[in-house]
Formats: sequence, structure tokens, C-alpha cells
Amino acid sequence: MEAIRACVEIKGVVQGVGFRPFVYDLALENDLKGWVLNDEKGVTIEIEGKKDRVNKFLSGLSSPPPIARIEKTAILYLSPLGYNDFEIKKSKEGEGKLALISPDIATCKDCLNELFDPKDRRFRYPFINCTNCGPRFTIIANVPYDRDNTTMSSFTMCPACSSEYHSPSNRRFHAQPNACPECGPTLQLFTNSGKMVTTHDPVEETIALLKRGKIVAIKGLGGFHLACDATKEEVVAGLRARKYREDKPFALMCRDLEVVKSLCIVDALSSNLISSRERPIVILPRKIGAKIAPSVAPFQKTLGVMLPYTPLHHLLFGQGVDALVMTSGNVSDEPIVFKDTEAFSRLRNIADFFLVHDREIHTRCDDSVVKPLKETVTFLRRARGFAPFPIKLNKKGKHILACGADLKNTFCLTKGDYAFMSQHIGDMENFETMSSFEQGIELFKQLFQITPEFVVHDLHPDYFSTRYAMGLDVPKKIGVQHHFAHALSCMAEYGSVGPALAIVLDGTGYGEDGTVWGGEFLEVSVQGYTRLGHLKQIPLPGGDKAVWEPWRIAAAYLERIYGDFQELHIPFVKELDLERWSQLKLAVKARINAPLCSSMGRLFDAVSALLNVRRSVNYEGQAAVELEQMVKEGESGEYPFEIFEQKGSFIIDPDPIIEAIVKDIKLKESPSIISTRFHNSIAQVISRMAKKGREETGLSDVFLSGGVFQNTFLLEKAWDILNDNGFRVHIHQQIPPNDGCISLGQAFYAIHL
Ligand code: ZN
Ligand code: ZN
Ligand code: FE
Repeated sequence: MEAIRACVEIKGVVQGVGFRPFVYDLALENDLKGWVLNDEKGVTIEIEGKKDRVNKFLSGLSSPPPIARIEKTAILYLSPLGYNDFEIKKSKEGEGKLALISPDIATCKDCLNELFDPKDRRFRYPFINCTNCGPRFTIIANVPYDRDNTTMSSFTMCPACSSEYHSPSNRRFHAQPNACPECGPTLQLFTNSGKMVTTHDPVEETIALLKRGKIVAIKGLGGFHLACDATKEEVVAGLRARKYREDKPFALMCRDLEVVKSLCIVDALSSNLISSRERPIVILPRKIGAKIAPSVAPFQKTLGVMLPYTPLHHLLFGQGVDALVMTSGNVSDEPIVFKDTEAFSRLRNIADFFLVHDREIHTRCDDSVVKPLKETVTFLRRARGFAPFPIKLNKKGKHILACGADLKNTFCLTKGDYAFMSQHIGDMENFETMSSFEQGIELFKQLFQITPEFVVHDLHPDYFSTRYAMGLDVPKKIGVQHHFAHALSCMAEYGSVGPALAIVLDGTGYGEDGTVWGGEFLEVSVQGYTRLGHLKQIPLPGGDKAVWEPWRIAAAYLERIYGDFQELHIPFVKELDLERWSQLKLAVKARINAPLCSSMGRLFDAVSALLNVRRSVNYEGQAAVELEQMVKEGESGEYPFEIFEQKGSFIIDPDPIIEAIVKDIKLKESPSIISTRFHNSIAQVISRMAKKGREETGLSDVFLSGGVFQNTFLLEKAWDILNDNGFRVHIHQQIPPNDGCISLGQAFYAIHL
């Protein structure tokens, strides 16, 4: 058979992920000669040999090492040159390089086997890793991805590690964080007064402390966790008190899948999610009688659970510890602490002990959070394990910086047709988060060699992200309406330019008319949008204060429907501070601090308060989350609502829903039935409005976005009804429906300008 030569160019996450050794092995297996090389675009390969062997090699490329992600392969056939061997060539340095950077990946099976093998030289070594696993994004300070550009640069490899690192057939070939007990990072245990605990085994000592009910701050991959025994109520309650966190649920880390199954209902999809190499926190239905301290997740029927993802985590579950609270190391709403000095100063009053190590974390990155949904998944937070892997856009364009929104912020930088979305940054309400945002943008610009020509921002003039954008020295600045950006971000995931229908339901967003929007039915394309309809506006008594005190919104609805509602004999009214309300009512009448809003999130809040489920909240979205958890499968009742036309748009009047709920409350119907009927009604609102939109525009593609769609009961229901009515429904799958998606939508708009 004749010999042929093939030149192969591969783009994607192919550097620092064991791709070259994989190519090397594949070439030897097929008796091929030539070379492989990392360059500015990815990996380039030349192979020559018998035609059938070359073809076998090429098809073998489609199952690369686990972390690698092939985006594009280009093959060029040339005449053979007569190579003598196959070699791994030295990397080319190039200008304008774009090598994708891998997220941090959970410890792989091979490394775990070594970790627990007494004969292995890395037996019980907490920093074991290889080309298929370990830290990446959180330790990189610059490109190219070489050890010198990571926080491992201060550790010099011992001869044994170095030989692994340089040997093409070794599974640690060019594993930049490669280390062993001889040459790598080490653990140290401190008391909260900064005194080192003398022990030959900090891990064993930590396990003993946890068992004794101590709270330990543990340095992880992207920041510090606060850990404690999840079965000890006094301890978990103590952690809550010290952290000033009233009832927002704590995440759990469980020893293995068996433990998860003993606490939660786990189906095949959830079990894949929780065991995936990204290892997100997965929100799962909690089993009745699950042996977990009540303070882990008060008022919740679910638990947020993850499995160990670093060697250190695996060691901590060595003996007798089954489930640990593993919550972000921070004080109330500050971002997660990731520097040692910061940890000792800010967490001193929370943790009793500190388990730290000398491998520095360069970039803060929280745990990702997902919720299983039908055959797919809804992201609540996209961070570790996913960032900074880009979202592929349908179009190439100029370099763009999109600043996102101020709650659940992410930013996004584009280059070519890649959108590099940041990890979850958080709520822009303190200095720490804002500087995290600014530093993150600088890092992404550096890592992906991006110089923005456009900067995109929300229309909200008081957003920190907007003001940041305004202050930049960038040629062109573009404002994009919040809910339009929501819709566009979902379209970006599907590469759709529209026109299409979009239903965006969230808590708050700045509207073009200066009022608060959030129950929006739009016709959208990448060029612009039309507001086809929205929820009828209601004044928010006290403005932002109403977000924290949903009873205010409930009272505003009752006031609008019944006028003086004191005579309504329902528990909500009986427990209302009527004097406080009459003052607020006057302010609303005088239009003082009572902005009009069409927010669907606030309607959920109102119903939650009306049912006395949650009259005031301790964390954003709590009222709606608890309302969702009450729903009962099988209940099919619905409440009436009205849709009328006003100045060319459709207005949804939810007042009949509230009236019907009040009636049900008077009939002593159970809150769980009422909650379900309410959810069913909103699904009907969505479907009726979509039909109106279709009649107006002839469009039947629908994109769903907005924080309200974190409610998977509503999302599934709406999806089913829309599907049954002939709509093509599109939901978020790679990014969250909440404001974490805004930056992608903003970038998508700019790239199509
Ligand atoms: Zn590994
Ligand atoms: Zn070593
Ligand atoms: Fe939003």
C-alpha cells in the first residue's frame, strides 16, 4: 500500500491536557512517522505511513484524553517526506496566540488508585495530579500554559517527577502542576490564633478535629471552604451564627455516591452529574429522615451535594466522616476567600482551625451549582469545572468586553467566535466583589490576548458594571436592555439570530421607560426587540426594601384589588402590622419610593407572603424558592387571569389569580395545593402569551430566560405546554437563566452589530 502524509491542525482545549502523549502513542500504535507540536493555534501534527494506518490514526483522534476538547480539525494531504521516527517537537512561541485554557478538573481514577496505594510514592499525597486531572484555571497567571506561568513555579521538580514530566509516554508528560511529597506543596494546620499545630499528619489531625465538632477552614482549589460535621446540629448551627448566615442552605460534600444516595433521591441523570469530572454541587430532593443536621438547609426539601474533587478532599473522608458541610469561606455576602493572609484575618472568628498549603490560588473560583432537569440540566452558578471554557458563537467578530449585570455577575470577553465567560463573580455590593470583577477582566484579557474594541453594559445607570464600562477608554460603548440581553444569551447558546419570541421572567431589570421590568414577552432578533406584552405593573412599596420584605408586595396587590383589605379574614392580614402598612400606603399614593414594576419574580414573592410561607427573606429569591418546594405533583387546578390590550401591547392582569388564592385560603385549602395551582396558572400565562405572540408575528420559536426559570417545576410545565402547542422551545443549557447569563447576551448583541 502506498504511503501518504497528512498534516493535521487541531483547535480546542488541546494543550496541557495530555494531548501530545496521546498523539505520540497513537502514532506509534499505527507505525507512523512524523511529529506533533503545540503552537499558537492549538496542536499541529504531521504523520506519514500506510494509507489505512493514517486513516486509523485520524479516526483515533476522535477519542482524545478526557479533559481535551476538540473544536475543529483540518486535514491536508501531502506527498511523503520520508520521516525516520515520530517526535514531539518543542513548542512554537507565537504572537496573537489563542490557546484555550482548561477548567480545573476533579482527581481522576488513575490518580486516586495511586493515592490509596501504600506502595506508590504518592501514597496519601494531597496534591497528586496528572495530565487528565488537577488544578488548571485557578493556578494560571499568564500564557502559555507552562509551569513557570502558574503558581507551581516556586516548586522545582525532583528527578523522579521531572522524568515523568519529560517522558512522552508517561501520563504526567507536561502535567504542569506535577508534584510529589519530595518536591511539591505541603499541608499545614493552624489554630485560629495563627499557631501552627505540631503533627506528623495534618489530615488525620483535621479529621479528628472535625469529628470533635470543630469548624475547619480548608484551602481548596478556587478558595477556602468552611467545613464541619454535617450531622452535628450544634456545630452546624454554630457555623451559621458565626457566618451571619440565617437560612441560606449550606452545600454538603459526601464521601461517595452511596452516602449521597442515603440522603437524597438520586436518579441516573443526577448520578452522572454528581460524578462528572466537573463535580458541581447538584441540588437533589432530600430523603425523608435523611441523617443531616436541620441547620444544613432549613425550610428546604432539597440538599446541595457534591463529591470530593481534590486529593485532599478524598483523604478527609478517609475514615468515619461521611458528610461534611462545605460552604464558601466568607462572611455573609462577601466573595469566597482565596488568599492565606486574607483567610486568617477574615475567617478567624468563624473557623477554629485552618488547614492550608503553600500552592497559591491565583484566581478565585466558586463551586458550580446545577439542578437536574428532564434529560438536561439547569445551571444556577457556572464556575469551577466549566470556566473559562468558552461558549462558541455563530459568528466571528471584533474583540468585545461585556460587563454583565450587578447581581450574580459574570463578564464576557470575545475573540473570533469564542465567548470567554467568566466564572460566577457575585453580587456587586462590596469592594471585594468589585475588585474581583476588575482583576478578572484583566486576567482574561491577558490569558486570551484580547484588547476590547467594544464595551457593552446594562442600561441601569447605577450598576457598578455600567459605571465601570463608562470609565473605560474603549472606542465604542453600547448599552443593552436587561431582558433583551437575557433573551439574546439564550439565543447565543443555540446560534440563533432570530426573529423569535422570548419570554423573560426575573426579579428586576432596568426598563427602557425607567420603570422596573421583569415579566416580559418580547419579539427578538439580534438587531433589536419589541415589547409585545408584560405583566401589569404594581408599585413596589419602599423600592428595594420590598425585595427583602415580600409582605409589602402582597399588601400592594390586596390594596389594589380590595381597597381597604382589613376585613379579609385570612392569616396574612391578621398578622400584618396595619399601622406600618398605612404609612407605606400613603407613601405609595404619593409616589414616594414606590417604583412601578412588571416583575414576575415579585408576583411569586407576593404569593409566598400571602400564604405566610415567607413574609420576609434572608437571602435573595428565598420566598420563591420555598414556594416552589411546596408544589405537589398531580394537582392540576388553575386560577383565572386576564390579558388585555393597552397601547398596542398585551397586559397580563394577575389580580384574578390573587383573588382566587384569597378565596382558597378562606376555604382553608392547603398551601401546597395553592402553590401548585399558582404555578400551573403561570405556565398557562406563558402559553397564552406565546400564542398571542405567534398570532401577531407568525413566529413559533420561543426562548426562555430569567431567574424565575431557575424554578424547574415551572420551567418543565411551561416547556410541556408550549411543546404541546407546537412551539419550538429553547432553554439555557450551558449557562444559568439568572443574571449570570447577561454578559453573554450583551456580547452576542455587539458581535452582530
Ligand atoms: Zn489524574
Ligand atoms: Zn517530585
Ligand atoms: Fe435578570
